[in-house]
Amino acid sequence: TLNLELVATVKRYGDTVAVDAINHKFKSGTYSCLLGPSGCGKSSTLRMIAGHEQVSEGDILLGGANITDLPPASRGTAMMFQNYALFPHISVADNVAFSQKMQGIAKPARLKRAMELLELVDMVSYADRLPDQLSGGQQQRVALARALITEPSVLLLDEPLSALDPFLRIKMRLELKRLQRELGISFIHVTHSQDEALALADDIIVMNGGKIEQAGSPRSVFNAP
Ligand code: ADP
Ligand code: ADP
Repeated sequence: TLNLELVATVKRYGDTVAVDAINHKFKSGTYSCLLGPSGCGKSSTLRMIAGHEQVSEGDILLGGANITDLPPASRGTAMMFQNYALFPHISVADNVAFSQKMQGIAKPARLKRAMELLELVDMVSYADRLPDQLSGGQQQRVALARALITEPSVLLLDEPLSALDPFLRIKMRLELKRLQRELGISFIHVTHSQDEALALADDIIVMNGGKIEQAGSPRSVFNAP
C-alpha cells in the first residue's frame, strides 16, 4: 500500500477557510484518526481526500502520484459514510457488488467477490436480505464491505461509530482495528472523540481552526502510557 500526502491543501467555501494549507503524510498501512472539535475542518479534509469535494489549493498525492483532480472512483481511495447510505431496494449482496456492476463486471464474478467481502465482515448469512432488515451495526458492516470491494489503498471513515449505541460502538472499534490490520491498508478515521482516537489510532492528527495543531502517536499527542 501507499503513503497519502497532503501538500499545502486548502478548502475554501466562499470566504470561509475550512482547511488552511495543511501538510501531512499518512504513512502506508497505518490507522490514523483526524481528531478535533466540530467545525475544525475534519470532514472537509476527508471529503477532499475522497474526491467528493474540490481542492481549492494545494495537492493530494497517493504513492507519489497526484490524485488531486481524479474522480472518486479512480483515485485508490474509498469512503464509508456516517449514515451508511445503502440502497434500500436491493439486497445486501447487490449493495456490496454495486460498484463492480457500474464497472461492467459480470454478475457471477461480482457476486462471488461480494460474498468474499461479506465473509470478511461476518455477514454472509445476510446476503439476500434488504438493508432495512438489518440492525445499525449490521448495516455498517455491509457499508464497510461495499467500500472495500473497490480494493482501496486508503479507506476513509467519517464518524463511522457515532450512530451506534455505546456497546456496539466498542465492539465495532475492535472490528475496524482487526480489519485494518488484516487488510494492511491505511484507514483515515474522522472523530471528535478523544477516547475513540486513543483506542484506534497508530497516528492522531489534531485539527483546530482548519490547521493541524499536533500530529503523532497517541503517546506523543496525549502523553498516554
Ligand atoms: P468538521 O468536520 O471538523 O466538523 P467541516 O469540515 O464540516 O468541519 O467544516 C469546517 C468549516 O467549513 C465549518 O466552518 C463549516 O461550517 C464550513 N463548511 C463545511 N462544509 C461547508 C459547505 N458545504 N458550505 C459552506 N461551509 C461549509
Ligand atoms: P460533519 O458532522 O461531518 O462536520 P456537518 O453536520 O457539519 O457535517 O455538515 C453536514 C453537511 O452540511 C455537509 O455536507 C457540509 O458540507 C454541509 N455544511 C456544513 N456546514 C455548512 C455551512 N456553514 N454552510 C453550508 N453547508 C454546510
